[in-house]
Amino acid sequence: MTEPDLNQTTQITPSEGIERARHGWRAKCLQRLVRMQLPVPRSFAISAETVRLIAQGQRVQAASLDEVFAGSGLVSVRPSAVMPEWGGPGTVLNVGINDALHDRLAGVIGRENADAVYLAFVQTYATHIARLDPDMFTQDGPGALADALRCYRDEMDRPFPQDPTEQLSEVLRSMARAWDGPTARLLRQAKGAPPDAPLGLVVQEMALALGPGICGSGTIQFIDPVTGAPRVTGRFRGQRHGPTIGAGAETLYLTRDDRGPSLEETAPEIFADLVRFGIAARERLREEMQIEFVVTGGQISVIDADRVARTSRASVRIAVSLARDGIIPPDEALMRVEPRALADLLHHQVDPREPRDVIARGIDASPGAATGRIVFSAAAAQSAHARGEPCILVRRETIPEDIRGMHASVAVLTERGGTTSHAAVIARGLGLPCIVGASGLVIDARARTLRAHSLQGGTRILREGDEITIDGSSGEVLAGAAVLLPPALDDAFTQLMDWASDVGGLGVRANADTPEDAITARRFQAQGIGLCRTEHMFFDAERLPAMREMIFADTPEDRRLSLDRILPMQRQDFTRLFEIMAGLPVTIRLFDPPLHEFLPHDREGLRELASSLDLPLADVTRRVEALTEFNPMLGMRGVRLGITVPEIYDMQARAIFEATVEASRKGDPVVPEIMIPLVSAMREVELVKTRIDAVAAAVRNQTRVDFTYRLGVMVETPRAALRAGDIAGHCMFLSFGTNDLTQMTYGLSRDDAGRFMGTYVGQGVYAEDPFHVLDQDGVGELLLIGVQRARAQKPGITLSVCGEHGGNPESIAFCHSAGLDYVSCSPFRVPVARLAAAQSAI
Ligand code: PEP
Ligand code: MG
Repeated sequence: MTEPDLNQTTQITPSEGIERARHGWRAKCLQRLVRMQLPVPRSFAISAETVRLIAQGQRVQAASLDEVFAGSGLVSVRPSAVMPEWGGPGTVLNVGINDALHDRLAGVIGRENADAVYLAFVQTYATHIARLDPDMFTQDGPGALADALRCYRDEMDRPFPQDPTEQLSEVLRSMARAWDGPTARLLRQAKGAPPDAPLGLVVQEMALALGPGICGSGTIQFIDPVTGAPRVTGRFRGQRHGPTIGAGAETLYLTRDDRGPSLEETAPEIFADLVRFGIAARERLREEMQIEFVVTGGQISVIDADRVARTSRASVRIAVSLARDGIIPPDEALMRVEPRALADLLHHQVDPREPRDVIARGIDASPGAATGRIVFSAAAAQSAHARGEPCILVRRETIPEDIRGMHASVAVLTERGGTTSHAAVIARGLGLPCIVGASGLVIDARARTLRAHSLQGGTRILREGDEITIDGSSGEVLAGAAVLLPPALDDAFTQLMDWASDVGGLGVRANADTPEDAITARRFQAQGIGLCRTEHMFFDAERLPAMREMIFADTPEDRRLSLDRILPMQRQDFTRLFEIMAGLPVTIRLFDPPLHEFLPHDREGLRELASSLDLPLADVTRRVEALTEFNPMLGMRGVRLGITVPEIYDMQARAIFEATVEASRKGDPVVPEIMIPLVSAMREVELVKTRIDAVAAAVRNQTRVDFTYRLGVMVETPRAALRAGDIAGHCMFLSFGTNDLTQMTYGLSRDDAGRFMGTYVGQGVYAEDPFHVLDQDGVGELLLIGVQRARAQKPGITLSVCGEHGGNPESIAFCHSAGLDYVSCSPFRVPVARLAAAQSAI
């Protein structure tokens, strides 16, 4: 057997070649601290190659280990993976203690303390390295050390090892092997580590945190980890050496602002030195660090430093303040913030420091948190809203009629559904926290109860009026009112967004259906509206009767008369949108859903409809049945309805053009973009275009005002993607509706996918929910084919994505690489998309 290359056990000095890839982040970080001349105890890095050889059974030469014991005689061993989040085997402290050192220590720190240190090591060694039963080594107090040593000898048939180098090489071997274990591998792979991720180890001389004078150990950091605001926090534990608690142990706060005795008051020089180290570390390591230190008789040793763990809102504030202080460039600040972290800043959040009473889990469909009383119907939500009571709409699933109830609620919870089901899409649009597919819940709307089968096996029953909290960021339903943190649209957020705009890259528009959406879109600096789903304008209390009248009309003439009632309202909707967007592009999608969505679903509703239309109930029921489809997602909707009942698109085109004329009179000239949904054949586009052109000509004639418009097509059927070349010849832009395109590519209903998505993702059938993260292999390939064929036909054509994927950072990176012009997403996801777009361009 060959000995490992001993030069790979390297003392960490300012000039040694310590590399993160070979020695790990901790070794590299310690070298930086050494270079800053901070008081770091002598430390040694063991390279990943050596660790690998050790794991294979090779022994490090005793001579190379001897030198680490030259100081206090005690060392610690810590893991040093390439990334801190990959973890590693637990730190082992006090390696090197034996009978002789124990006697010597007793003279310095007292026998009791020396016993405690020796005992701690024997316990660790026996259970983690010799793998003896931990129950045999749990004693404490006088006599425990002798017992533990005896027990070790009895079990192992040999005395406890007295040779420090033997102890160390056994510790190294055990840590090297632990890294190769299946659990450790799975854990780190879950954090993004490759299967063969290397591990380095750091051996460090230990400073004693026990004994006379000021002794102890602690951590200090310089920001509040929840808000990111500057604030010194941490603890100093006097007479505490690792987990070993010595005589006279006492915990101190660090600053005098905290309630209770503080290090700042007790030992101002030590406190001042720590603050100085912190400022230096921030500048040199270009990061907010938590410093771990030991004080021995008033002397500080910096034993480790780690990036401060932080919430999303703190991550924004820290990155911006580092860039503003000139420590990192703005581009790096942009790269350091996870785009989806921004979603947390826009909404209330459950305070991560507080306990949570989780009663159910579901899909985190729309971020943010809200507390309210349970209501089971849209009507109850509206009444609660009228009484000024915050309420949470709880439904098996929502239907378009529920939209008013959603408006009146502070959050939405559904038992069924997936990321792109109705509740999810609408809630994201409204910025409401929402959880869908909470399959552990059973809702009985009639009895007005909600039964939650807890993950531990019990059942809890909640009733209408009971208070719950929805955490749409984590997908957790909490009982009662949780402590919430307010949104953090502060100066740091604005600054980060301004830097993102400076970078440019892929454009970001908003999906906006109402004036409120459009105002939010502008507030977040969307570059226009990429999708206005016009059908959402028809569920209004005033319009629904006219819509139903139109559906029941017997002749085109009657239909036109009903639509004439809706026309001025639609015109007003569009005029408002054009005014708010002030010259930015506005893409209006023509009517998309199947007509049955506008009809009542129960007997009561049918009766009401019959009386309002003055028709016999039997006629109304027959008509409703005739319009009901088995699979409405694939039935008469979108352009199919537009061609079959052309009066609807005629009315919408007229409303758009009249609004164009009106808005252009008052402000910037408007060039509306009209988009046709669910196209699968070029001829559909030709037919609709001919009619829209005729309406445009008529409006020009009547108003004597000239205007232009841009016609676009949604690519949301696989055939449209394949035939994108032909289709491109008849329009000026294509927008990939990746919700429907995903549904149709997988043959997977967007409204029913939630039922098994958890199982599918859990078992690795799908890496992710494809309605959430664009499936690059399948749907993505269709998109690339569509892009390539459309551009081959018409190089200047504008291409975009307006499905929910437009707000998902990974999908945005794909859209950038596919060469799209922009993405369009819910207004509240615009900041996330802008940051993701900037990151793709950096
Ligand atoms: C889509 O299908 O991706 C889309 C944007 O349209 P909708 O979600 O309204 O079907
Ligand atoms: Mg669609």
